[in-house]
Amino acid sequence: MKAIGWAALAALGFAGTLAGCSGGADDAPVGGIDKVRLVNAGEDPANWITHGGTYAEQRFSPLDQVNRTTVSELGLAWFADMDTARGQEATPLVMDGKLYVTSAWSKVFAFDAATGEPLWSYDPEVPGETGVKVCCDVVNRGLAAWGDRLFLGTLDGRLVALDRDTGEVIWEKVTVDQDKAYSITGAPRIVDGKVLIGNGGAEFGVRGYIAAYDAEDGEELWRFYTVPGDDGDDAPEYLKTAAETWSGDVLSSDNGIGGGGTVWDSMAYDPELDLLYFGVGNGSPWNRAYRSPGEDGTGEGDNLYLSSIVAIRPDTGEYVWHYQTTPGETWDYTATQHIILADMEIDGRERQVLMQAPKNGFFYVLDRATGEFLSGEPYIALNWATGIDENGRPIENPETRVDKTGQPAMVMPGPLGGHNWHPMAYHPGENLVYIPAFEAAMLYAPEADWKPDTNRGFNIGFDIGAGDLPPDMGFRREVEGTISGKLVAWDPVAQEARWSVEHPGPWNGGVLATGGGLVFQGNSGSEFAAYNSANGEKLWSFGAQTGVVAPPITYTVNGEQYVAVLAGWGGAFAITADGTLIDQMHPVRNISRLLVFKLGGNGELPAEPELAAAPLDPPPSRASAATIELGREKYARYCAVCHAPGAVGSTVLPDLRRSGALDNRQAWQAIVHDGALKDNGMASFSGSMTPDEIEAIRAYVIQRANEDKDMENARAANRVARR
Ligand code: CA
Repeated sequence: MKAIGWAALAALGFAGTLAGCSGGADDAPVGGIDKVRLVNAGEDPANWITHGGTYAEQRFSPLDQVNRTTVSELGLAWFADMDTARGQEATPLVMDGKLYVTSAWSKVFAFDAATGEPLWSYDPEVPGETGVKVCCDVVNRGLAAWGDRLFLGTLDGRLVALDRDTGEVIWEKVTVDQDKAYSITGAPRIVDGKVLIGNGGAEFGVRGYIAAYDAEDGEELWRFYTVPGDDGDDAPEYLKTAAETWSGDVLSSDNGIGGGGTVWDSMAYDPELDLLYFGVGNGSPWNRAYRSPGEDGTGEGDNLYLSSIVAIRPDTGEYVWHYQTTPGETWDYTATQHIILADMEIDGRERQVLMQAPKNGFFYVLDRATGEFLSGEPYIALNWATGIDENGRPIENPETRVDKTGQPAMVMPGPLGGHNWHPMAYHPGENLVYIPAFEAAMLYAPEADWKPDTNRGFNIGFDIGAGDLPPDMGFRREVEGTISGKLVAWDPVAQEARWSVEHPGPWNGGVLATGGGLVFQGNSGSEFAAYNSANGEKLWSFGAQTGVVAPPITYTVNGEQYVAVLAGWGGAFAITADGTLIDQMHPVRNISRLLVFKLGGNGELPAEPELAAAPLDPPPSRASAATIELGREKYARYCAVCHAPGAVGSTVLPDLRRSGALDNRQAWQAIVHDGALKDNGMASFSGSMTPDEIEAIRAYVIQRANEDKDMENARAANRVARR
């Protein structure tokens, strides 16, 4: 998007002075953050004052000291170890030479941005057992700034205002019903003193919304629900319209599981149009046949506003327009992915566009004033649709829609999407959007007599464990064969890739584009790299010792340009995938650390600690086939989300095949039934499973561990034979 002109600002009646609004990187003090500062964030590249760099969320910085020529001299200026070993997804903010970053478990850290000297830290003390309410690791994606305060959403649903200088809590407000499985992982945004935040939880059973809170005192100013409830005639008009696209009682407050539609990540704001845009998530449950069964029970209706991009007035929460990417969504195809605003010429006409690459695999270009669909093409391989018709509606492949019974379907993309939360970047000079894309199919298997359980566990209406056995062939091999990850440079006008870079595996980092002609991105190969923004040539890389999923930022202090990125493997793919999937000999691991680079930086990381995975040594598998099958079903519903489907283990969360409690029935019950490890994030499942069912899970994991032990032995024998 072009910089907003001062004349336009004056016309909009903005107060404020030009003081400190530098046109370059002269490090003028940023002081208190106000509307003028935020609207003009793009003209102040010394600082990084809002999540996406600017309200347009382009994640483009004009800084060019680090460029295609000088990047070879880029080195580590400083680093800071995080005190958690879980997924790190945050975008730091930088103001007045200080860097603020969040980490796993919603902690906040402030540093001197040039030297790395720690200034203060804040721990909201999220209860450990909140961990079982989250689908995708205990992550946090960042802060918002307004005045001299910072704003944080915590995993357990609080919004906290902190003093930017000291980290002291000024106020905090619970924004969700904490008896339900709501969580916050996203970064707030702020428009005119209103702090905007949504929440997550649609895998478990909640009703999604975004709300605005007064930055001054935390008072809730408005709340915008994304799916209808049971308020009948009292519902606002846009929700009455939505209700006509649903059937069944999933939404009623006494029987329902909320319908989903959570607003857990993306937002963007256009100050000239005064429109706030946000993305809406998947349904609760995923399977539409259960969520909106229709007359014959096989599922019907578009189920607005699931999987939609919605535009509202930030002042009042008034609905303006929506575009639904996946009508009647059933595959977890959220439209919560990063939204970018830009202006460009399309078919000879200057357009104000909104761009998104949601999970469903299509790259969308919409008119952001009206919501009109301009174009959409697949940015990855997919099979759920064959294209998009002229009205902007996908042409669905009926074989990929699975209801309550019948055949399972292998669908691309799977529930992790073609692109997940990892931010893209847009380079206005190249007119390219850089997408951290990946491909991973999933088998969607029907679950015949599914019933909701809002106490614990996944509420999706599919049997996600259906393909878990046998472990080393068939389905798992088939899915693994579909897994890949790449950085795609997408031309939004031509709707095609100009270039792409293959990564070692899926689940790679968010992206930063710069005026130095560079694109920065970390990856699943434990590397942080810079590419030529025009052709994808890798110009520089740094061994990060850990998978990097968070997006980088850049800033200056005393005229010197820095590039910062939070490293630390984690998040949805990482916690559910075998760490050897990407690199057999060197499994991706979590070493959580903030890395900051500058030209001539000569810092070094400490030596990488040895990764000592003990050989599998499970007790013998003696349970009956029926018990193991019961354990498989229960494992899929309650355990797989954190401990990996098929109990293959991840390198982020405990590998149950190696659990010390595996050969001890009492210890297993103490943990799973009684919640002995709840402070670590392993809450009690006594409200959802009987001791016999919990014991069946132990039998299943023992069986899986024995299968994998045989597999490891066979592999080892092969290696010896090959030598
Ligand atoms: Ca989801």
